[in-house]
Amino acid sequence: MVFPNLQRPSLGTKPDLPELEYGDKKAYRNACSMIDTIFTSSLSDTRRLYELGSAIRIRFNELEPLLDRYTSGICAACHTGCCVNRHGFPDFEDLLVFKSLGLERVEFDSTLSEHGLCQFLGEKGCMLSRVQRSYRCTWFFCDDLLDRFELKHPRAFLDFCHRCGTLSRARNELLSWFRSLLAGKTGNL
Ligand code: SF4
Ligand code: SF4
Repeated sequence: MVFPNLQRPSLGTKPDLPELEYGDKKAYRNACSMIDTIFTSSLSDTRRLYELGSAIRIRFNELEPLLDRYTSGICAACHTGCCVNRHGFPDFEDLLVFKSLGLERVEFDSTLSEHGLCQFLGEKGCMLSRVQRSYRCTWFFCDDLLDRFELKHPRAFLDFCHRCGTLSRARNELLSWFRSLLAGKTGNL
């Protein structure tokens, strides 16, 4: 459903979103609470946030076959320890996206070493669905992987770059909208 007449609040400078440090449980809880508060503050805003989340999900679904087909095999055979807890830990933006997608937050044990192999790394790779992972997990591709992908499948690589761009824009739209709402609530949270 589209709400064409819904205008973003015009509130001047939008606030930065909070930084989350690995292992800072209090900041993590506060972030979840802030997001939940914004999501329940008005029906029209809530609808808009979920609508933006749906757009992100569509982009993820478009990207997923390309990621599975052209990168999973390379990553599965890689033993560089790319997947460590610190990378899997969600930041504020990730928590916001999870909420907009209607996902339950994944319990992340941040008492484990941030440099240790990620707790969600299984024998066949990541045990989380793509949309449940932190954005840096979905987004991180080492140069070697990109070079091999581009060299072997140049057309698919261009498509992949294009789709990454559309996903990024959809995500940025949600973040921008949320910042606007947050600016309107500052002092009331
Ligand atoms: S992104 Fe690169 S370093 Fe990370 S698992 Fe894949 S191939 Fe290995
Ligand atoms: S891709 Fe999965 S296993 Fe790898 S760091 Fe991210 S959450 Fe952990």
